[in-house]
Amino acid sequence: MKLPYLAFLLQDGEKNVLIDNGINERFLIDGKAWGGAPAECGEKDLVESLAKVGLKPSDIDVMLYTHLHNDHAGNAQLFMDTPSYAQYDDFDNLLNPCYGETVRRDHDPEVIPFLRKTPKLVLIDGDMDLMEGIRLIKTPGHTRGSQSIVVNTTKGLRIFVGDLFHLRCMAFPTLTEMKDYDGKTVKITPYDEGVPCVASTLIYDHYALYKSYDKVRAYCPEWKPEYLICGHESAHLYGEI
Ligand SMILES: [Zn+2]
Repeated sequence: MKLPYLAFLLQDGEKNVLIDNGINERFLIDGKAWGGAPAECGEKDLVESLAKVGLKPSDIDVMLYTHLHNDHAGNAQLFMDTPSYAQYDDFDNLLNPCYGETVRRDHDPEVIPFLRKTPKLVLIDGDMDLMEGIRLIKTPGHTRGSQSIVVNTTKGLRIFVGDLFHLRCMAFPTLTEMKDYDGKTVKITPYDEGVPCVASTLIYDHYALYKSYDKVRAYCPEWKPEYLICGHESAHLYGEI
């Protein structure tokens, strides 16, 4: 099914914080991107999306990476003067991808020199309070150094989990429906009760995933889908944040 590549803008009236920056068109070959799937994407989409809210890439004060796969860090070249944060283990993962990631072309090697030349890139190892209302927590599983961003929003707590859970139904396997890319509600097959979360083939460390699941869950006042902002959830396109 068609799914979005997403980036998220956080604003508090003073600062603009961007979570991930999408995929770059240089990664498209014959109209196909990740996994050989057809895609429409690129730097232009990100620039245009920011322009819709009156911003340029240089207006972003902080760039946060949930992880450094091609569809999350593909436009790093636009933020080389921006204070940026990723986990140390994820940068190491980018330099030394596991075999499955190489086969699937999960990383865009052209991102490496851009990140290396980003003087304000901070590689952290673990959890940190970034600023009032934003906490970074290390949640490996999808990649070795994935992190989630815990945010106090005006609507309450939200956790931007990146691709720890690509979709909410992976964290809530008993869900029976989701929204597709066009906003239509579609039926999905639920897992049995008792399966805490679904570890798909895109999870590189299942043990870490289950630990990260517990960690994310512990941050939520209740275990409900609306607290999670997932890396490829179409519902987010339709205001469900
Ligand atoms: Zn992704």
